[in-house]
Amino acid sequence: MTRIIALTNQKGGVGKTTTAVNLAACLAALDRRVLLIDLDPQGHATMGSGVDKHDLDGSVLDVLLGDKSAAEVIVDCAVAGYALLPGNGDLTAAEVDLLDRDGRERVLTQAIDSVASDYDVVIIDCPPSLNMLTVNALTAANGVLIPVQCEFYALEGLSALLDTVEQIQESVNPNLEIFGIVRTMFDPRNSLTRDVSKQLGQYFGDSLLKATIPRNVRVAEAPSHGLPVTKYARLSRGSQAHRVLAKELIRRLAL
Ligand code: ADP
Ligand code: MG
Repeated sequence: MTRIIALTNQKGGVGKTTTAVNLAACLAALDRRVLLIDLDPQGHATMGSGVDKHDLDGSVLDVLLGDKSAAEVIVDCAVAGYALLPGNGDLTAAEVDLLDRDGRERVLTQAIDSVASDYDVVIIDCPPSLNMLTVNALTAANGVLIPVQCEFYALEGLSALLDTVEQIQESVNPNLEIFGIVRTMFDPRNSLTRDVSKQLGQYFGDSLLKATIPRNVRVAEAPSHGLPVTKYARLSRGSQAHRVLAKELIRRLAL
């Protein structure tokens, strides 16, 4: 059974794209068939997968608009080990176009319907806002994985995100789950990190994943080489942490 996971948090810079790319690579390395969808106009997941966002034959926008099929646009990222449905700045247009369509929440669901079953896991990297692209991701997904950086304002945006998840559950996707909260750029020596971490545990209980992703310079460097950190610096702490995260999700979600 295919599991579709949306990496969501409307806050920018919390590690959505980093988690999406590295989780995709780790799951692929563990023999899962993985499709990564770049639904952010910034195209960072595309670039981080070694694909030039400025030189695409087709993008997820073409698929959303019905101009191309997903199969036509998907690129094989052989080194990283997964398939990519790339995205770039053209996606900004999708936001506008989607706004006045019937069934606008389900456009992505329908667009990937023909290919989803070819994969064990589909990972969607969302834009840093709760816009119609994100709504489409949450409608297509079985669950959300929420990266959180343990800093002072971390909790503030989460209630808006959880409200959105609830609205989607009450309307188009009643089975949408919270697959987990993953703490990124984690530094347990920092007392604020520990405080926020504790609050997350109190609020989310079992949904707070045990795996944490440390701040690690290799993780930050890897995208400039178009590689997941597991291929760029296999033995780094960041690489190992993403592998632990992948294994925890495999156990929890029976991937
Ligand atoms: P988002 O997709 O939520 O906007 P990114 O994944 O792009 O966030 O991360 C924001 C920035 O932080 C990027 O420059 C990225 O390289 C860096 N970064 C993310 N995770 C880590 C980490 N664990 N260690 C070091 N740098 C990180
Ligand atoms: Mg991003």
